[in-house]
Amino acid sequence: MSRCKARAQAVFEITTGEPISVEKPKSLEEIWASDVFTLVKMEDALSKSAFKAMKETMETGAPLDPAVADDVAAAMKTWALSKGANYFAHVFYPLTGASAEKHDSFIVTDASGKAITEFNGSLLTKGEPDGSSFPNGGIRQTNAARGYTFWDPTSPAFILDTENGATLCIPSVFVSWTGEALDKKVPLLRSNAAMNKAGGKLLKLMGEKEVAPLNSSCGAEQEYFLVDAAFANLRPDLLLAGRTLFGAPPAKGQEFDDHYFATIPERVQVFMEAVEETLYRLGIPAKTRHNEVAPGQFEIAPYFEAANVAADHQQMLMTVLRNTAKKHGFVCLLHEKPFAGINGSGKHVNWSVGNATQGNLLDPGDTPHDNLNFLLFCGAVIRGVHLYGPLLRAVIASAGNDHRLGANEAPPAILSVYLGSEIESIFEQIQSGKLDGASEAGIMDLGLAQIIPFAKDAGDRNRTSPFAFTGNRFEFRAVGSQQSVSGPLIAMNTLLADSLEWITEKLEAELASGKDRSAAVIAVLKELMNAHAEVIFGGDGYSEEWHKKAVEERGLKNIPTTADALPYLNDESIKALFERTGVLSSVELKSRYEVYAEIYILSIGVEAKLVIDMAKTIIYPAAMSYLSDLATTNASVVAMGIELDTSTAKAIATEADAMMAATTKLAEAAGKEDFADLDAHMQYCAKEIRGLMEEVRSHADALEAEIADEQWPLPKYREMLFIK
Ligand code: ADP
Ligand code: MG
Repeated sequence: MSRCKARAQAVFEITTGEPISVEKPKSLEEIWASDVFTLVKMEDALSKSAFKAMKETMETGAPLDPAVADDVAAAMKTWALSKGANYFAHVFYPLTGASAEKHDSFIVTDASGKAITEFNGSLLTKGEPDGSSFPNGGIRQTNAARGYTFWDPTSPAFILDTENGATLCIPSVFVSWTGEALDKKVPLLRSNAAMNKAGGKLLKLMGEKEVAPLNSSCGAEQEYFLVDAAFANLRPDLLLAGRTLFGAPPAKGQEFDDHYFATIPERVQVFMEAVEETLYRLGIPAKTRHNEVAPGQFEIAPYFEAANVAADHQQMLMTVLRNTAKKHGFVCLLHEKPFAGINGSGKHVNWSVGNATQGNLLDPGDTPHDNLNFLLFCGAVIRGVHLYGPLLRAVIASAGNDHRLGANEAPPAILSVYLGSEIESIFEQIQSGKLDGASEAGIMDLGLAQIIPFAKDAGDRNRTSPFAFTGNRFEFRAVGSQQSVSGPLIAMNTLLADSLEWITEKLEAELASGKDRSAAVIAVLKELMNAHAEVIFGGDGYSEEWHKKAVEERGLKNIPTTADALPYLNDESIKALFERTGVLSSVELKSRYEVYAEIYILSIGVEAKLVIDMAKTIIYPAAMSYLSDLATTNASVVAMGIELDTSTAKAIATEADAMMAATTKLAEAAGKEDFADLDAHMQYCAKEIRGLMEEVRSHADALEAEIADEQWPLPKYREMLFIK
């Protein structure tokens, strides 16, 4: 079947297809965490002492006795076999941002050749995948490829059920033979430990008698697009790059704002319920779902959890979205910008820190001006974002996210902090030297007797801020939709740890000088504000005025592309930050710069190849074929003595020629290999290659607007976005 026929066929099938039949959703009690080896299951299966040890480790990160691992392994195996799993896998999180797993069977044979199942503490604790195929940024050579995975007992094991069978999955860290972190989990755990150490010390200094271990929390809102698989299969760009590299704008896009929070299409709702059921089985607390701003765009947000577990769950959530979409005849696009001219997708990372004794330290309570712990932790975040804004920009840098940041739909590429009017005014008062207290938010009374009056939130929302305080947490809104949340969490925990240490030192000095605690805190925060208030901004982050002011008056950095952002990872101050806090050695940090730079260069390389390939083998032939039809028609019409206007034919010929000329230029540019270093190579991709890809596209999109609809070989924007 020709591409054009297949496109028409896809529209027909999607619009006339039977909706996928669904079983009635099972009750939450029945399915909740049924595929997770939870503490509750361990309590039943383990000896009292083994259970107590596991519980202690899971809740506080305390070291685990290897003997306990044997008991846990035995119980885990029994449970996994009962769930039909014949394989186990250490799941780990390499720097590619994906999840990786190496499956091993429980089966071994004994001397007589009989198959028995085996799984013990050492198999649970340690795995040895060949690490050489994972990016390591120069930490290892391929001939020294040993990589190890070690069980992370603080994130629960689970069963992943796929059509190919069930597997017991064991969340793990991934390190090199020389002990360097090759993954995103090791630094996340270390960043949490650094924050705990610094935060605990400060809380003690603040006179807290009992201070439980501090942990960071994360609740991530995930945006995504759904496109019918029949369309996606006809688009090599969607299949290989996850975004459309061509496509003329549809007559109607999102200008009516009629998709956000609108009724969810039936087929999509069925898909969402299937996703939620799988997530509930995996103990992932999916909580919110709705249509997003762009047509075909949706959002899912689970309830927040401890950062380490939330990060593992977030990876799984992306896998579940993709796999479930397949079953429902969709492709789930997690790319940051699948469609030009239409809003892209982000991932809002909500983050807070707290413990069992002091609670959420970013919760201001009813009287924030009196809540010294809150003011210190919030101040620490302000300082951290000001000092390490470029780091926060670097950890969200990717080829995909470059299309969103600063593009007037997503936060700008300038890192500032939004506090909301109430908290902002308290910090202003601190800076000016007199703290009067908070303004009353007041009661919202609509004057309608039947509507119960309610207390107003202290501050409004600001959708244009990349880093916003939202009542009891910060929301890092500039994260890309397909990115791992670990990078942002590591950066936030680490900069917080650093600031908490700085505050502790200053506070010790103020207390030593004889000030009472409250006066000492205010003095430290005043100094902090004098140095860092420039990062606080409550206005419109999209405005041109802010872009100018931020850079020229406030000295903040506008870092537009990945090519500009990643080099900050080599900055001395950032290197020192990670070394001082023990989160990443300079070797580990450098390897991250190299891996992310390579990924950026490779992603753009793949896109360039696709542009060349699709222009030459799909779009140009379509143009020539239509041109030839026009020519034939013209010849017969002229033979009848009628004059035809040939401007369409001429426009097609001109655009097709221009597209091929741009394609040739792009192919030449993409072949260039001699670069001084990775920085130079990235800049070349950002400026030269991206520009040429756009040039090819502009001609191709002009052709789409001229060529007969039934002869256009690629599913169009209006079809992919609006037909479900
Ligand atoms: P909105 O779209 O209004 O920002 P959502 O309800 O979609 O909010 O998502 C908010 C996310 O923030 C949820 O995952 C929620 O569980 C999470 N969250 C709430 N409180 C905290 C907290 N203290 N720390 C971390 N995340 C939190
Ligand atoms: Mg949000």
